[in-house]
Parts: sequence; C-alpha cells; structure tokens
Amino acid sequence: MSLVDLPRYQLHRAATLEELCQLVYDRVSNSEPVALLAGGTDLMVELGRAASPPDPLPLVVDISCMDELRAIEWDGTRISIGAAVTYLEMQRHPVIAERAPLIARMARDVGGPTIQARGTLGGNLATASPAADGVAALAALDANVLVRSARGARRIPMAKLQTGYKQSTRAPEEIIVAIEFVAPAPDSPWLWRKIGPRLAQAISKVALAAVAELEGGKVTRLGLALASVAPVTALLDHTRALLSRGDLAALDGQALDDAVESDISPIDDLRSTRAYRLHCAKVLVRSFARDLGASV
Ligand SMILES: Cc1cc2nc3c(=O)[nH]c(=O)nc-3n(C[C@H](O)[C@H](O)[C@H](O)COP(=O)(O)OP(=O)(O)OC[C@H]3O[C@@H](n4cnc5c(N)ncnc54)[C@H](O)[C@@H]3O)c2cc1C
Repeated sequence: MSLVDLPRYQLHRAATLEELCQLVYDRVSNSEPVALLAGGTDLMVELGRAASPPDPLPLVVDISCMDELRAIEWDGTRISIGAAVTYLEMQRHPVIAERAPLIARMARDVGGPTIQARGTLGGNLATASPAADGVAALAALDANVLVRSARGARRIPMAKLQTGYKQSTRAPEEIIVAIEFVAPAPDSPWLWRKIGPRLAQAISKVALAAVAELEGGKVTRLGLALASVAPVTALLDHTRALLSRGDLAALDGQALDDAVESDISPIDDLRSTRAYRLHCAKVLVRSFARDLGASV
C-alpha cells in the first residue's frame, strides 16, 4: 500500500466507549473488517507492508482521543494506565516516574521520540509481539489487562495474554481499555535493560524487565520478563523460583545461568543469534540478581 491509498480508507470516531464496543462487536459478528487506530505505529506498518490494500478495506476507527482510554489513575495502591496513553505521557507522569519507574524507563526506549509521541500500550499489547517492550514491562509488574466488549468486561492477567507468536487470548471484539498493576513498594529494586543495535528505532535483540520487593534480605515479590528470547515474552518461572528460594548470598551463578537457559528458547534471526541472546539473557539476569544482594 502507498500513501495514495490512504484516502480510500473510511475513518470513524466513536463518541463513547460503549458506542465503540457495539460498533466493533457488530462488525466482527458480521465478518466486516475493522481496525482500531491508536498511535498507528504498528497498524500503518502492517497496512503498508501489504502488497495491495486489503479487500474489503477495514473501517478504521480512531481511538487516540477517547477520554475513557486516556486516563492515568492512582488510588494509593494500584496504578491504572489507559490503553491510549502515549509513551511520552507515561514518561512525564509524576506517579509513574515515582511509583513505576520501570514503565517510565521502558517508555523512553520504545522507538524514537516520534514513536513515543504516538505509540500506546494498548497497541503494544494488541500486537502482542515477543519483542514488545511494553508487554515485558507489564508482565514483570504482574499487570492485568482490562478489556471490554459489547458482551461485558474482564481482566486478563499478563501471564495469560500471549499464547504464541503475536497470538493472544483477547477476542477480536475486545477493546483494551486500561492496564492495572499494584505499584511496587517505594524504592524497590527494578531494572530495564534493552540490548539492540542502537538506542532508538531498533527492535531489541534481548530486553529484560525486572522488579522485586525485599524484606529482611528475602524476596517477597519478583517479576522477571525477557523480550525477544521465545515466541512469547518469557516469564522465567525457574529463574524466579530460584531467586525467591531464600538465601540470595549463597546463590550459585551457574545454577542461575542454567535456570535462565531452561526458561527461554531464543532463535537465530536477522537481528541476532541464539548464542548471543542466551549470553545476554544470562548477563542481564545476573546483573539484577546482584542488585538483590547475590554475589554472582
Ligand atoms: C520505527 C518503529 C520503532 C518501533 N520501536 C519499538 C520498540 O522499540 N519497542 C516496541 O515494543 N515497539 C516498537 N515499535 C512498535 C510500536 O511502536 C509499538 O508496538 C506501539 O506500542 C504500538 O502502539 P500504537 O498505539 O501505535 O498501535 P496502533 O498501530 O495504533 O495499533 C496496533 C494494533 O493494535 C490494535 N489496537 C490499538 N489499540 C487497541 C486497543 N485499545 N484495544 C484493542 N486493539 C487495539 C490496532 O487495531 C492494531 O491492530 C516500533 C514501531 C516503529 C514503526
């Protein structure tokens, strides 16, 4: 598709979330294509990649300005980020900066400034790429995704969202409304590290999102998520179990490496090799383990 095809697309805006849910539900039920447009940074690439415009053309529904999808809320325990909040807005929000610095830091690493000014978590989660930075950060925070359709609303835990490469448990008629998580205790250790060919505009070779809470040197909350090392974001079950077991000072570095290796299945592709990804994953996890008090 080229830019000259753009005028052929019909663009729609819904007045309310309820109207949006009904519109999408009706179109999906009638097998009529519909595409939500938030920042457009994935959608436009997807449409542009096709050799010719889809037939029939989807109705494009712009959700970027919908108030119901644009709030950041904080009740003293939980943070809720609207699906259409941009990465730039996340970086600049005081509650996110103070109580979820992992999100603020991740948002600074997504693409470059133009992508950050338009891109949203809703779009990141809907595309559900194994390289998605937002998915990894939200998985480490054990977030829930609030989705809504004309049939009702439900919460999908991040651990249950992705089912395969760019596949998710979200039904086509379900709109992502917001993402919610319990904010880590103030000053909890966290790490966001993205390894790629250059800082801006590059999809990661490997990225680690990590957050923990400690009490008396023991891990009481731990979220780890690695992007780009498996068909879905890797949640590192064995590694988390090992780090949560107790005596961090006695943790064996080789056992930690082995746990990481058993948790991921990186591949060779044009961005990197399996061996390099494996190496990076182990180095990043060891780095966070040291932040927690391990001598590895
Ligand atoms: C140059 C470039 C660099 C990039 N760099 C990165 C990067 O570093 N890290 C990274 O993770 N990603 C990156 N991306 C991918 C993209 O920017 C992100 O995935 C972004 O979060 C997508 O959000 P969006 O609002 O632009 O989504 P859109 O393109 O508007 O939508 C993407 C898909 O999600 C659907 N959708 C959008 N919102 C909702 C909703 N609320 N409910 C249900 N479905 C919805 C749309 O219909 C569409 O199918 C990059 C993209 C480009 C072009």
